[in-house]
Amino acid sequence: MRAFLCGVRGSTPAPGPDFVKYGGHTSSVALAHDGELPSLVIDAGTGLRRVTNLLDGAPFQGSIVLSHLHWDHVHGLPFFQGGARQGHRVNVFLPAINGDAVGTLSRGLSPPHFPIGPTELGPGWTFDPLVEGPRELEGFEVLVREIPHKGGRTFGFRVTDGAGSLAYLGDHFPLGEGAGPDGLGAYHPAALALAHEVDVLLHDAQFLAAQFPGVTYLGHSAIEYAIGLASRAGAKALMLFHHAPDRTDDELDAIVASFADAPIRVIAATEGTVATLGVPGSPVMTTLSTAT
Ligand SMILES: [Zn+2]
Ligand SMILES: [Zn+2]
Repeated sequence: MRAFLCGVRGSTPAPGPDFVKYGGHTSSVALAHDGELPSLVIDAGTGLRRVTNLLDGAPFQGSIVLSHLHWDHVHGLPFFQGGARQGHRVNVFLPAINGDAVGTLSRGLSPPHFPIGPTELGPGWTFDPLVEGPRELEGFEVLVREIPHKGGRTFGFRVTDGAGSLAYLGDHFPLGEGAGPDGLGAYHPAALALAHEVDVLLHDAQFLAAQFPGVTYLGHSAIEYAIGLASRAGAKALMLFHHAPDRTDDELDAIVASFADAPIRVIAATEGTVATLGVPGSPVMTTLSTAT
């Protein structure tokens, strides 16, 4: 399968010359079966706009799973042109309060916060609660597990097509489960299950351990924790994800270089790249030619 990195930034978009290499769109990752158009999207940050460019002019027909409902994970929804084309089908799954998916999403997506609500996005849009456990979506096996974050229920995902696999813990506060062996958070069962022997682990990399404890109130991870989790879970590679909005390209280059001797391969997620999973040497990284 292929994973298209359409938005890799955390918290708020980061435009400008200091963010050209790694990109400024917020979280959105599109998954496609080999030889097919993307049909499963994880999170709908502003990067969702880039998914339209992957569709070869076709309407999107698939599902979007939302890890949680913070702005940086939903702001792309009403700007998803691929989900407005004739013949679209967009099934959205989200952590709903009291099982009311539309009502929960409407808290942030409705007047006066935004001109329209979820049900006005198009006739082919549906909204359903996301629950924990394994499920099938768009021909992928998806494991959904709740993970600690801050300010609302949050899920992590493990997705496989039977050959390749990917784990996504975009916003993760493992200190919420205890200090853990290195003081950066617990290597708790949900995180270990999601990351178990995946080809690539996309993980919250908002901070460095040196920034702790001053930033822990924000509910994110240290990169050193992500390395520890990837190692313990047997992941083949770690992709640093959800970059802090003020972290420049030069700073990210330096961070990646500083972890060159880590026990697992450490990559910084870069907007506009495609990870091909389930092949020898996976993940194999290529660059999208349809940049916007
Ligand atoms: Zn976030
Ligand atoms: Zn969040």
